[in-house]
Amino acid sequence: MNIVITGASKGIGFAIAKKFAAHGHHLFLTSKTAADLIKAVDELRQLYPNCTIEGIHADLSIEGQVHCFTEWCLLHTQPDILVNNAGYFLPGKIAEEPAGTLEAQLNANLLSAYYTTKDLLPAMLKKGKGHIFNICSIASLDAYENGGSYSISKFALLGFSKNLRLELKDKGIKVTAVCPGAVYTNSWKGSGVDPKRIMEANDIADMIYAASQLSPQAVVEDIVMRPQLGDL
Ligand code: NAP
Repeated sequence: MNIVITGASKGIGFAIAKKFAAHGHHLFLTSKTAADLIKAVDELRQLYPNCTIEGIHADLSIEGQVHCFTEWCLLHTQPDILVNNAGYFLPGKIAEEPAGTLEAQLNANLLSAYYTTKDLLPAMLKKGKGHIFNICSIASLDAYENGGSYSISKFALLGFSKNLRLELKDKGIKVTAVCPGAVYTNSWKGSGVDPKRIMEANDIADMIYAASQLSPQAVVEDIVMRPQLGDL
């Protein structure tokens, strides 16, 4: 299968890429910083020489760059699975965060997924099958301490996922919203949090891979995962 993953250079996205490549699938990857993406693609090619692994960098918070990325994608592949993972967490309080914070978080965490999906959907619709994973958050489900605009953008991403699932349910395309609690990635490095206290990126990748393996008549609608000891 052909797997498109955004934000694939590190963290959860990189773990998902590894998981699919380990099962022999072909990867079409993007993330913002060119050098980090090149490093990730090189590492994956060395580990999985039998898979096609291609990458192009793009800032998906900019609509024009999303279209460049999706055009590149469609030149190389017909996607079976799309993982909308690119995004970042700007902590803050709504009353205190600087002007522009909501726009920045919506652009990176919501519109990146919205435009990527709209561009790649016609190819999936033509095939009559596909699976879209949107990496939301537990901050999509409830108010989150210092969540501010991040939490607003992740609530919206969950709303996008639910509406998309309804629209696509009779077209053979599945939509899964993934809502992880804390996962040890770059965002947590230097925070002083013990990596063993929170989840591993591989935990999220394992669940996504499992959800992608069901019969066409079954969909995992939501994946909610938390550290065993609960939220921080
Ligand atoms: P990470 O290690 O910082 O990786 C984020 C990836 O997304 C990187 O490849 C990054 O590329 C890319 N990215 C960010 N902004 C982008 C943009 N504007 N355009 C293109 N690529 C962009 O973060 P992570 O913890 O794995 O997070 C991945 C996703 O999981 C995010 O959506 C995050 O909100 C969500 N999530 C994380 C946690 C957690 O505790 N870690 C919990 C719940 C949900 P660059 O580095 O080049 O910018």
